[in-house]
Amino acid sequence: MRKGFLIVVSGPSGAGKGTVCSAFLKEHEDVAYSVSATTREPRAGEQEGVNYYFLSRGEFESMIENGELLEWAEVYGNYYGTPLKKIEEKLSKGQDILLEIDTQGALNVQKKFPDGVYVFILPPSIEELAKRLRGRGTDSEEAVERRLAAAAGEIAVAREYTYTIVNDTVEHSVQTLAAIVSAEHARTCNNLEKIDEIIKGA
Ligand code: 5GP
Repeated sequence: MRKGFLIVVSGPSGAGKGTVCSAFLKEHEDVAYSVSATTREPRAGEQEGVNYYFLSRGEFESMIENGELLEWAEVYGNYYGTPLKKIEEKLSKGQDILLEIDTQGALNVQKKFPDGVYVFILPPSIEELAKRLRGRGTDSEEAVERRLAAAAGEIAVAREYTYTIVNDTVEHSVQTLAAIVSAEHARTCNNLEKIDEIIKGA
């Protein structure tokens, strides 16, 4: 069976990782999305079980205590975490799974899944990031300033990732992400069973 792996995507808020991931997933229905748990309030249009599992702090803390999360982190005062069971189920079926998580979470996943693909989405510049955050109109000026202040520190962590994509256009970023995933599948270490199968049939 084809081996599934984790595709872990991070980037500073406003770099466009959400848009890139959604567009990629639309074109690659075979790749599953890991729906995270969070204690933050749903934004307009967000759906339970589709965008996030929206939990109280108490519910989230009991998931931590019961070892139900692959990783978790506190981001901007809210908890976010990756439910482990779903990941295990999908990987065992040979499915690739895309996780859109922050850098703290990604570095923890890296320790447990060193064979995953770690992709960092960069904004073309800090000026462009500021423009995108303000243009989004979802955050107060104070929240924008907070996100910008955090951005340089987050971007420095890009060095720990396997790949970096400068998100100049969504189309180009999606193409690059698709190329990365295809190349991962073509790695010899991910095709050892196929090689044996062909040899046996000779
Ligand atoms: P937002 O509130 O804008 O949806 O997400 C805020 C940040 O939390 C983003 O950087 C997002 O990637 C990150 N995030 C979302 N889900 C998870 C998760 O399961 N674990 C971790 N560590 N970060 C997450």
